[in-house]
Amino acid sequence: MPENTKPKSGFNTRIIHSEYISPDGFAAFPVAIHHASTVLFDSVASMRERSWLDKSTYTYGLHGTPTSFTLEARLTEIERGEHCLLTPSGLAAITLVNMAFLLSGDHVLIPDNVYGPSRDQADWLSRSFGINVSYYDPLIGADIAALIQENTRLIWLEAPGSVSMEVPDVPAICAAAHARGVLVALDNTWSAGIAFAAFEHGVDIIMQALTKYQSGGSDVLMGAVITRDKELNNRLLLAHMRLGFGVGMDDVYLVLRNLPTLQLRFNAHDQSARKVAAWLANRPEISKVLHPALPDCPGHEIWQRDFTGAGGLFSVLFDAKYGEEQTDRFVDSLKLFKLGYSWGGAHSLCVPYRMQHMRTKWSEHGILVRFNIGLEDAQDLITDIEQALATLT
Ligand SMILES: *Cc1c(COP(=O)(O)O)cnc(C)c1O
Repeated sequence: MPENTKPKSGFNTRIIHSEYISPDGFAAFPVAIHHASTVLFDSVASMRERSWLDKSTYTYGLHGTPTSFTLEARLTEIERGEHCLLTPSGLAAITLVNMAFLLSGDHVLIPDNVYGPSRDQADWLSRSFGINVSYYDPLIGADIAALIQENTRLIWLEAPGSVSMEVPDVPAICAAAHARGVLVALDNTWSAGIAFAAFEHGVDIIMQALTKYQSGGSDVLMGAVITRDKELNNRLLLAHMRLGFGVGMDDVYLVLRNLPTLQLRFNAHDQSARKVAAWLANRPEISKVLHPALPDCPGHEIWQRDFTGAGGLFSVLFDAKYGEEQTDRFVDSLKLFKLGYSWGGAHSLCVPYRMQHMRTKWSEHGILVRFNIGLEDAQDLITDIEQALATLT
């Protein structure tokens, strides 16, 4: 119908349906932010034909848009995997793995130094959902074989534990697990997928809190689960849909925007953290520096054997003669280091922990304080710690 004879639609219809067709030929580096709940189909036939399990196409915003598919592809590349699913937080990625692979009556082995909210979730699964949970010594290595039961389905690993920093023997634990047909999932957040090649060391399922280094801006919560095996990914996909784990595309964009500098930032955090850690190792107030690249750290030799870097997160144990009142004063006296959870951003952070409340077994006496070394000048961070240490006496 010629334009001038077309019946004029009403105002409300026009503001909804008027269409601007952009000219071809636009090219730029940023990934486009495709927001969508509804995804459109050409015909009923194509609607019926498409399956949300098929990620070579689109069905509904919950399962992704080109923006989230791009981030999934890049994370797959970083970890040298085959499949990736995004979740609304790192903890949600842990939930996804637990829901995909554990049924009531199953047994799961979790390291005693696991990320706190992950432990809380496991205790909840045990109390309310009939899943049997055992905590194991993170330095157990091949002896984990003795803890594997008939109904053990999954072994979690954290390398290293993000508070007390023990570095587990990942290949030994994976070998023992696989000998009994048990899956191994690794929380690989500490290494950002840069400093530890998890699949090469035998891990089946990698979980990342993208909230940390991948986002790098202290402004996004997101997680990812990465696998190589299609069957494992299919089970994760089903659980992902059933749990309704969609992610916001603006957040996905923020992560994509910061990914190109991931390695540069990680290396900068690593260099500064080693300077600060080495300085702390010479201080009389500190009894141990729990930094995987330093010999005080349990599992240091395993870190040397298996890892290629360390990032910015480590902890110290104060001399046992200092009580909590004094170490709290130390933390409160820091000026550049801010008090807050999380890590991987540009700002340095510090958190004191009450280890006795967090662990089944903890035999150290001094108080543990964790540092996230940001991107400030290392010397300024050292000067800040030095003035705060002076408040101890
Ligand atoms: C932060 C963190 C998580 C959880 O990530 P969120 O996005 O904060 O839920 C999981 N594991 C480790 C080791 C973490 O540090």
